[in-house]
Amino acid sequence: MSGTRFFLLLIAFLLCVALSHAQGTTYVVLWFDTEDYIDPISDDAALRVANDLTALGVHGTFKVVGEKARTLDRRGRRDVIEALGRHCIGYHSNWHSIQPAPAVRLQHLGLMEGAGEFERCERPGFEDVGRIFGVTPVCYGQPGSSWAPQSNLALRRMGVHVYLDAGTQLGYRDQPVWYGGLLYVFNMGPYQLRADLDNHTPIQETFRQFDDAVSHFAGSGGGLISTFYHPTEFVHTEFWDAANFAHGATRERKEWVLPKRRSPEDAERCFGVLKAYVQHAKSLPGVQFVTADDLLRIYATPIPPAVDTATLARHFTESVTFLSLPSGDLSAADILLELLNIPVRYVDGPTAAGITTYQETTIPAVAFDSTLQDVKSFIETNHRLPSEVFVGSKTLSLVDFAATLARLLLTPGPIQVVHGKLGFEGCFSTDSKGAFNWPIHPDGFAPDELLELARLQGWTLKPARLR
Ligand SMILES: [Zn+2]
Repeated sequence: MSGTRFFLLLIAFLLCVALSHAQGTTYVVLWFDTEDYIDPISDDAALRVANDLTALGVHGTFKVVGEKARTLDRRGRRDVIEALGRHCIGYHSNWHSIQPAPAVRLQHLGLMEGAGEFERCERPGFEDVGRIFGVTPVCYGQPGSSWAPQSNLALRRMGVHVYLDAGTQLGYRDQPVWYGGLLYVFNMGPYQLRADLDNHTPIQETFRQFDDAVSHFAGSGGGLISTFYHPTEFVHTEFWDAANFAHGATRERKEWVLPKRRSPEDAERCFGVLKAYVQHAKSLPGVQFVTADDLLRIYATPIPPAVDTATLARHFTESVTFLSLPSGDLSAADILLELLNIPVRYVDGPTAAGITTYQETTIPAVAFDSTLQDVKSFIETNHRLPSEVFVGSKTLSLVDFAATLARLLLTPGPIQVVHGKLGFEGCFSTDSKGAFNWPIHPDGFAPDELLELARLQGWTLKPARLR
């Protein structure tokens, strides 16, 4: 081989290496809501799914309902518990579809009281799953669409840092976000994919969508696909809870009925669909399966980057919302803390929509200085943002305070009151009926208060970034 030829081949090889590093990875989180505690055949379905995945060399995430774990324990199904235990274990509520469902219980409660109620009702099931599986569940996701923003605070207290589910209450660009102090994999749009067990969407069409996502992520620094099933789906043609608890119904245990089963041949076909989907994903270069636990390692920590005050203040005068920079992402709360010169820490959003009653166009420096001291003390004491701040006996809403402070930092001198503009509200659903639609919720359930509280916690929202 001539020297020139060798040199050209070397360049080509180095280019290939460089390109393969530049190609973004497609991560796939594959999760199973393990919840049917009525029909024992779903225990076998969970066992089969877990063993199939183990044979394929793939780790899934099994979000287990408290009563399901207790039922497996009562039925002596150590085989199921051990097979699932080879994968990642999450938590999927204590009773799932027994009323009041989480959103029904929390709909009229504020942030703090709701968090207390969520923890009171959900911690026992969380601990049961932990005790029975011998591990602390690493993620949570609500039953059906029964989501509530107060759960975030409670989950952090319980040591959970990943919210893994599908929902439309909040989201940003169909990828994970940090919200309420948790890594949220939630509203994933076209990146929530699954091979339909009943072939309503032909599997070849799903493969095409999957391949499109992989090539999109390859060229855009990587991303996440979320895929979920329920073990019960492989052996039933209807959901166990729809057969018993539809439209908010309550039914005594002795009256519970079994959901309609698939034939053994049909169930076998369904297990085959999952296997084909996983094998297809595995066959593509640049695709990697991850568990809920892995997510905390592949995403960068939410600690905000150091950014000069002028950049942050200028951003807030345009829009009070999160900011993405090459060095990292800052939530609106991160930015406000930075402007107030409070050391980096996680704070919750306000508990209510505050209002501005202060009517003057300027604030005396001495009065604003007292306001600043008061706000800092509130945040450092409560670890959350105030709904409104006081200027004497009058108030500024939090957004007006933030915009006023930002302007002052950019333009020292007389303190002009600025009415701020919130920029993150578009990340939240305004359709309470649609967002909470679930056959188990009472008819007409539309908890506007939960979406209002969700938007207030939008101060904590920012995109999550792959390391
Ligand atoms: Zn569920």
